[in-house]
Amino acid sequence: MPILDNEEEVQKPKQSTSDEFLTVQNKDIVTIKSKVYHLRSHWLEGKKTSASCAGEGCAFCKKGLNFRNEYHYFVSIERKDEKGAPVTLEGFARIPASSFFDMNEISKAMGKTKRDMKWLILKSGKDKETRYTTSPMGEVEPLPDDVLEDNTQRLSRVKVAYEQKLIDKYNELTQVEKPVVTKPEKEVEPVDEPNGTEDVDPSDIPF
Ligand SMILES: [Zn+2]
Repeated sequence: MPILDNEEEVQKPKQSTSDEFLTVQNKDIVTIKSKVYHLRSHWLEGKKTSASCAGEGCAFCKKGLNFRNEYHYFVSIERKDEKGAPVTLEGFARIPASSFFDMNEISKAMGKTKRDMKWLILKSGKDKETRYTTSPMGEVEPLPDDVLEDNTQRLSRVKVAYEQKLIDKYNELTQVEKPVVTKPEKEVEPVDEPNGTEDVDPSDIPF
């Protein structure tokens, strides 16, 4: 750290510990602090909303719409605020599918897990042309098991509620008589499954 000439004016670093919803931005340095909560959804452009992908027999899949894999985590993110000051934020974030698979591959090649290091995520392009580049940025202290478990529980509580809203939306939009209930999936191991479709910014999702 450099010598500061204006120490009286130094602002207390913003350290949020609330259950914030964070959106991954260009140049964010992300540390993964939970297991993954995985779900599948459809972005419905015409309705400007998301709904659950019901899996087998899904009405949207039948219409030929691509589903989107969502990988949610409890994370901490280091970034610069508007004034260029470093901030560390903690909360829930959806990791872009391509980043999720890049992290799996890189950490596996290094004999680590994705929670063992920080990740720099570069974002370029917009909308359907959005691309992410994900690189390891050095190791972090291993997360104690109980903290990992706590964070995962917090994530799970929030995402079960989120997924239920997507399921309700599915049922509303497809007007199925018997509501489809999908069970939230637990930690998924890296598999070479298709990434579904484009990465839609989760801030587009109105809940
Ligand atoms: Zn579907």
